[in-house]
Amino acid sequence: REQLDRSHYKTNRSAELYERAKLSIPGGVTANIKHFSPHPLFMKKGKGSKLYDADNHSYVDYLLCYGALILGHGHPAVYEAVIDQWSAAGTPVFGTPHEIETVMAEKLISLYRGIDSVRFTNSGLEATMLALRVASAFTGRSKVAKFEGHYHGGYDQVLFSIQPAPGEAGAADRPETIPESKGIPDYYTNHTLVLPFNDLEATKNLLRENAEELAAVIVEPVQGGFIPAHQAFMQGLRDITKELGIVLIFDEVKTGFRLSVGGAQELYKITPDLTALGKVLGGGFPVGAVGGRKDMMALLSPEGQDLLSAGGRQPSSERGLFHSGTYNGHPLVLAAGLATIEVLEKEGVMRNLFDTTDILRNELEALYLHYDLPMQTIGLGSIFNIVMTDRDIENYRDMKKADLNVRKRIDERVLKFGVYSKPLNRYSLSTVHDEQDLDFTIQAHEKAIIDMKD
Ligand code: PLP
Repeated sequence: REQLDRSHYKTNRSAELYERAKLSIPGGVTANIKHFSPHPLFMKKGKGSKLYDADNHSYVDYLLCYGALILGHGHPAVYEAVIDQWSAAGTPVFGTPHEIETVMAEKLISLYRGIDSVRFTNSGLEATMLALRVASAFTGRSKVAKFEGHYHGGYDQVLFSIQPAPGEAGAADRPETIPESKGIPDYYTNHTLVLPFNDLEATKNLLRENAEELAAVIVEPVQGGFIPAHQAFMQGLRDITKELGIVLIFDEVKTGFRLSVGGAQELYKITPDLTALGKVLGGGFPVGAVGGRKDMMALLSPEGQDLLSAGGRQPSSERGLFHSGTYNGHPLVLAAGLATIEVLEKEGVMRNLFDTTDILRNELEALYLHYDLPMQTIGLGSIFNIVMTDRDIENYRDMKKADLNVRKRIDERVLKFGVYSKPLNRYSLSTVHDEQDLDFTIQAHEKAIIDMKD
């Protein structure tokens, strides 16, 4: 309770660091989403469930590096795995094939029902991008379909209709393809179809209309990590894509290892053609992976395509599917990832994490009810979001009906009281969040509600 007295809370050092950063980094941030007003907090330390900022304030961290740190900050098993790997190898990276890549690939094949074979990348973005390329190569088609409100990384092919403004979003059963950024060539706007999430009939109609040109449908099984697809919707999506010969890609960058160790596909018992992974897989280091059906993944094999064996480059029509990356399969990253998965696979670890998350959700809901504020928590497994409405939330448009203003005012206050989640962000929990953290969080929310009402 002592910690909750933040009457002397000042973030002068963060403010100074922000002013300095802005001189050399646009907006002072290395990713646009890291920015918030009046200035982002600059962190200098993390331990367990806590982050510590440049002004020495502690925070219970629910951002957890956008969900990646499922074991919290600096888990000893991950730390040791990284140090051991470097010591044993004498170098951080080989730049050649090595055994840990195969160990991790075998692990993913054993855990994910949709994965027969794997390639590694350095980010989730690269993983979804590679999956789309595999789908295009496999089908010989060039359009892709994504769902409104779904994020797959910030690149030209999929950076559409994530947060379209109400006036430009189009009809609910026929969403417009709205670029989320300046600088996206029109080609991509014309080659990306936007679908309505959790609306099977409208999705089927749009897919049938565009089937001849569509290489893939990419979907977050749980939108933003917190709006679950209906089981019947996912099954219907699987059936229609199979029928139309469209590759179904599960983007499990967020849900992988979070909904269950085997991801959303294990929970829904649905097998996608391709799967993109990231975040938790790297144990706190940059990573991504694409896994999938053997016949699709086989397109990536360079066997028979060696530069010299062909006496020079093959004509482009005979070349295979290109994929590369200096740091792909980085040994330290995969060692950290394997150590993370090993902890998650221990008896009861995921169950406890889900139970802790459920306790926090229930207590928050009870608190807001007590203060007569319409609010619900939505999510699955170890991620949820706080939504200020009692109406049903099934997709991006429903989220617009929630009171973002109240949520923002709460977020600004709980941040000050020591609960870290970027304003309006979801809450991700780790295996090391404990009862004390939950108690502290509830108190911070109560204080924020009272403060806001005054
Ligand atoms: N796909 C999903 C579902 C994500 O949540 C993210 C990141 O938040 C990405 C892809 C992109 O991953 P990365 O940020 O590692 O490039």
